[in-house]
Amino acid sequence: MTAPRSLDLAPEFAARVLHDVPMSKHTSWHVGGPADLFFTPRDTMDLASFMRQLRPEVAVLWIGLGSNLLVRDGGIRGAVVCTVGALGAIERKSANVIRVEAGVACARIAKQCVKWGLGSAEFLAGIPGTLGGALAMNAGAWGGETWRHVIEVEVLDRRGARRTRKPEDYEVSYRHVRGPENEWFLAAQLQFERKPGTNSDAIRELLEKRKETQPIGEWSCGSVFVNPRTDHAARLIESAGLKGYRIGDASVSGKHANFIINHGTARAADVEALIAHVQKTVLEVHGIELHTEVRIVGVPA
Ligand SMILES: Cc1cc2nc3c(=O)[nH]c(=O)nc-3n(C[C@H](O)[C@H](O)[C@H](O)COP(=O)(O)OP(=O)(O)OC[C@H]3O[C@@H](n4cnc5c(N)ncnc54)[C@H](O)[C@@H]3O)c2cc1C
Repeated sequence: MTAPRSLDLAPEFAARVLHDVPMSKHTSWHVGGPADLFFTPRDTMDLASFMRQLRPEVAVLWIGLGSNLLVRDGGIRGAVVCTVGALGAIERKSANVIRVEAGVACARIAKQCVKWGLGSAEFLAGIPGTLGGALAMNAGAWGGETWRHVIEVEVLDRRGARRTRKPEDYEVSYRHVRGPENEWFLAAQLQFERKPGTNSDAIRELLEKRKETQPIGEWSCGSVFVNPRTDHAARLIESAGLKGYRIGDASVSGKHANFIINHGTARAADVEALIAHVQKTVLEVHGIELHTEVRIVGVPA
């Protein structure tokens, strides 16, 4: 299939970029239509060149492991850049500072920190995304939060220019990060506390706790809604009687009411309709508006 003219690529990329890639293969909900272009760079230089040669009107979405993404059934117009398998370096810079590239899985950071005798990275172990996604979301768990550890980030802009930024350049709060438009994270320097002799017991315990309380292993995106300031989204959804509520092959988890499960053949439209139903019902029952934590992208079928 020939790409529309606006998506024409420089010859060095034309053969490597994939067309019409089903996003259901790149999201943990396993839903989502095709991306016009799907690019996995070789490294940062390669990625910068790719961004530079993309026509300015082409929309760009960077993804990690797709564990917080609802891609609509019509897919994504423009280019998807996947950092997984590309930006994968992790190194120790000093006694308690590490540099991690955006495509590194959070679980790997947690494990590597234990090996290096660094503490307080354990919370990352159960977050099934990449550092890039964790920076975009300020991912957190069990009292830990990504941006509390950030000393500096390396970013790439839409024209392929690279620079470093400090946390002061971002507005950061619970599951919210706002920074300069049209820039993406390449890497970050993270600081953790020195904890000589630390082992993986804490990680094991946190993963066990997760298994007890969350439907791990099923197709989900983790918590769908952010917790409102004064309550827990899961409690509000459960007490509105929505546990198990189903649309198509998607349902509110019976184990953790803030999770929506794709049982196998759900479409993004089912998940989105279920999200809207939960929001409407919780508003009617509790008078509280729930906002999504998951990012909804793409076009309807
Ligand atoms: C079972 C389960 C449990 C979960 N538990 C938790 C939890 O405890 N705590 C928590 O916070 N989250 C949790 N999540 C949600 C999810 O794992 C996190 O939000 C994670 O940080 C997303 O990372 P990702 O690489 O999958 O990002 P993606 O889903 O691929 O992308 C998410 C957002 O980040 C953007 N993004 C990705 N990479 C970059 C980059 N390099 N530069 C700029 N933007 C980028 C994307 O454009 C998108 O807007 C859970 C999810 C699942 C499925």
